[in-house]
Amino acid sequence: MAILEIECPVCAEVLELDDADRDELAVGDVIVCDSCSAEMEVTRNGEGEDFELELLGVLTACPRCGEEFEVTEDMLAAAPVIEAEDGAEVSVVDCPHCRARIELEFDEPLEG
Ligand SMILES: [Zn+2]
Ligand SMILES: [Zn+2]
Repeated sequence: MAILEIECPVCAEVLELDDADRDELAVGDVIVCDSCSAEMEVTRNGEGEDFELELLGVLTACPRCGEEFEVTEDMLAAAPVIEAEDGAEVSVVDCPHCRARIELEFDEPLEG
């Protein structure tokens, strides 16, 4: 059985889809990354490697009010990037519910 490996565009976690998974997916379906909760919409699902996803957003829970909200690519593009105390680069977004500033840290994809 062929396994298609998809790298999450946000956290670089490899998601494995086997033929049965592929059969159940249609264009417009949404896959959620196990690791970072990024949502990806299936934009192509053909034969073999003919498969494409488009990043929709990342569902995250506000550490202050506990409400879940979606961080989109546009939000990330507009978010200032700062250096956290541990030296990691984090993007700062505002919670749409309580306006808390939330630091989002994404693992950099590993080269090679
Ligand atoms: Zn991910
Ligand atoms: Zn909040």
